[in-house]
Amino acid sequence: MRQNISVEEALEAALSLAHPITGTEELALFESHGRVLAQDLESKVNHPDADNTSLDGYACLEADTLSATPEHPVKLRLIGEAPAGKPFDGTVKPGEAVSVYTGAPIPKGADAVIRVEDTRREGGLVLLFAPASPKDIRHKSDDLKAGEVYLRRGDLLTPGRVALAAAMGYAKIPVLRKPRVGILSTGDEVMEPGEALPYGGVYNSNSYSLAGLVLEAGGEPVLLGKVTDQPEKVRHKLQQAAKLDLLLTSGGVSMGEYDVVRQLLEREGRIHFWKVKMQPGGPLLLAEWDGLPLFGLPGNPVSSMVTFFLFGRAFLFKLLSRTDAPYSAIHAIADTPFKPAPAKRVYRRAVLSYQPDGYHVASTGNQSSGVLRSMAAGNALVVLEPGAAACSGEVVQVIPL
Ligand code: AMP
Ligand code: MG
Repeated sequence: MRQNISVEEALEAALSLAHPITGTEELALFESHGRVLAQDLESKVNHPDADNTSLDGYACLEADTLSATPEHPVKLRLIGEAPAGKPFDGTVKPGEAVSVYTGAPIPKGADAVIRVEDTRREGGLVLLFAPASPKDIRHKSDDLKAGEVYLRRGDLLTPGRVALAAAMGYAKIPVLRKPRVGILSTGDEVMEPGEALPYGGVYNSNSYSLAGLVLEAGGEPVLLGKVTDQPEKVRHKLQQAAKLDLLLTSGGVSMGEYDVVRQLLEREGRIHFWKVKMQPGGPLLLAEWDGLPLFGLPGNPVSSMVTFFLFGRAFLFKLLSRTDAPYSAIHAIADTPFKPAPAKRVYRRAVLSYQPDGYHVASTGNQSSGVLRSMAAGNALVVLEPGAAACSGEVVQVIPL
């Protein structure tokens, strides 16, 4: 078992246990929002499927119209119309025009359009006060070419991508099944919300923060409840936890006598690492239990959230072969000072806001890992390298949550 490793080493170790899942399902377009695409999708159609007009106006021959000015309009004979979806099937000859509406195919013979604002109708004639131009023609396959791949396996299905799949002709989308993530809280003092709280007790909040973070990362949370600090209770739950892709435990991984998760895994599992040079979240543990990857998250509410966000989320992204990054860092101006820690990277909870001169970030106050309000109030983590304080006004690295 490795101990006291860096955040980078911990991430690498964790990802080495994450094997992309292969199970897929087909979902109707509307159901697929927020899921992850299981295979590359090629367009079934050309879009547009013919040259068409990008504005309401008249299709004609450019050469007829080159001399048109407000003082000396060019007169063309109107021979028909083409609303979107009702193409004109004749041919436009010199001296002729067809009235066209946005999205309508350009009639045969025409090579330019003029917007309706630069024209006037006079009986069977149309007067052009400016030349018609080919630039307002959208060409066949400008947007999509049949057979070309525009969406890839691992792409998160955002509204724009679901719409693109629809435009490419798909009524159903193959998505990866959601990774199942077991969540187990440990602690003699931990009670479920709704239960009476004894002296020294604390309500289980970790199961709920973690469930939300799992959902946000594209996983399916499987709530396994809570167990008391007895190794056999933890073992029993672990044995029940079949058909999971990942297990998260909270609590019981520190130095204490009652840190049963760590003790049990030391005896009966395989611990890959314990303790990472970071704050909060230092006691994080990575193990395997009967082949099932397991993060032993520290019990402090902030620690369990930050460690899941940094490692668990990346783990799920790899299971889902996601093409986007689990998180990214930006730069912001610190509006408050931020305190570092010796020999550890720290992640301070903060409020990130966009202001006229760029991003700003301010501390949420008390940074103790037991203060859940700092997660509820904050929307970002300020990252400080060991010993490197940040003063007010300095530019700092920030991970938006
Ligand atoms: P542990 O990691 O078990 O030493 O717990 C560290 C701290 O986190 C203790 O103050 C626990 O009471 C608290 N804690 C542990 N589990 C939870 C939980 N599920 N929800 C809220 N707080 C917890
Ligand atoms: Mg405990």
